[in-house]
Amino acid sequence: MGSGRKRNMPCWCGSGLKYKHCHLERQNQAPPALWEAEQAFRKSFSNRSCSAPNEWHKVCKGKIVRAHTVPRSSSLKRIAQDGHVYAFVVSMRNLRANNGIIRPELVGIKRASTFSGFCELHDREVFSPVENKNFEGTAEQCFLLGYRATARELYTKIAAASLSEFRRSADAGRKPEQQFQIQMTNFLVDIGNTAGLRDSRALKEKYDEILMSKSFQDSVGYVVELDRPPSVMCSGGWFPAEDFQGNQIQDLGALDEEMNAITCTSYWGGETGVIVFQWLRAHHDICARYIKSFHALKDDALGMALLDLFFDQMENLQLSPAWWEGLSEVERNILVDRMASSANPFEDMKTMAEKGKTGIDPGWQVRNRYTVGFDFNEQEG
Ligand SMILES: [Zn+2]
Ligand SMILES: [Zn+2]
Repeated sequence: MGSGRKRNMPCWCGSGLKYKHCHLERQNQAPPALWEAEQAFRKSFSNRSCSAPNEWHKVCKGKIVRAHTVPRSSSLKRIAQDGHVYAFVVSMRNLRANNGIIRPELVGIKRASTFSGFCELHDREVFSPVENKNFEGTAEQCFLLGYRATARELYTKIAAASLSEFRRSADAGRKPEQQFQIQMTNFLVDIGNTAGLRDSRALKEKYDEILMSKSFQDSVGYVVELDRPPSVMCSGGWFPAEDFQGNQIQDLGALDEEMNAITCTSYWGGETGVIVFQWLRAHHDICARYIKSFHALKDDALGMALLDLFFDQMENLQLSPAWWEGLSEVERNILVDRMASSANPFEDMKTMAEKGKTGIDPGWQVRNRYTVGFDFNEQEG
């Protein structure tokens, strides 16, 4: 096998290389060592460039800083114990040691979930209205929380896509039929990543336009105020597939349609704990339906729905040790499983009805909720 023309043909795996330079001797090659996987993983997240709009890059100043994914550096202190919070630390080592399931561990708040996404100047200036002022529910503040979440989503997707090459080499030393399976999976993951990256880039450009023109009225929001700092702090953005009653609101499989995105940030606003949803007015039809179904919940159910939502949609959760340690073992396991199943790209997307509700007490009371830049009564249907 492997003689003559076949050796010079493009490899079956789609790498674009000739077979003789790609899969010909793959089963006899050494499999990648754990440290190589670790290195590739770290390298993919070490991309350091400023996420401010391209038009502003001329004035970037200072290093790319590591900033917390949760705004206001003082926020995490509110839930920390001895300077530590629980976080899900994703690394190849952790994934492999626990069969793909990651359990939260105590990390110092300086190390807890940071994102190296903005230069010193832009990190300081762009986010000053949320970092240096109490949260007052202004359109600008809501937008900036969403901007940061959106920039981070794009950064994460770029990192995931850059691991493609490493994933392609992961079948070294495997038998040919296993090689085929691995490459097939890679192929599907790449298709998903490419579409996700394209949507994320297009979305980030829309956010850039609003930031540059300061047209914060093109962004809307929904705020939930809590009676204390949220026991789970996080920030992220996603494309909602169904509302809180389980009705489909957009088809994530429609790869050539523009997806409607929503962001959410949970932190300490300076006077109250706040959970802030934000979306673009251009995405209002879908997102307002989503939020309306959420708004229909009573305060207690709303708090629990938020907790489930965080474990379903966010990957950078930071948990209050007092709250986490106060849960029962069973409750903790339910949440860890929930996190693992939503992070696993090979598991079929489950609907909310299939996942069910955990019914776990988030440890906060909802005190108030309000809309920013729209009114539920103004639109129907
Ligand atoms: Zn190949
Ligand atoms: Zn910059």
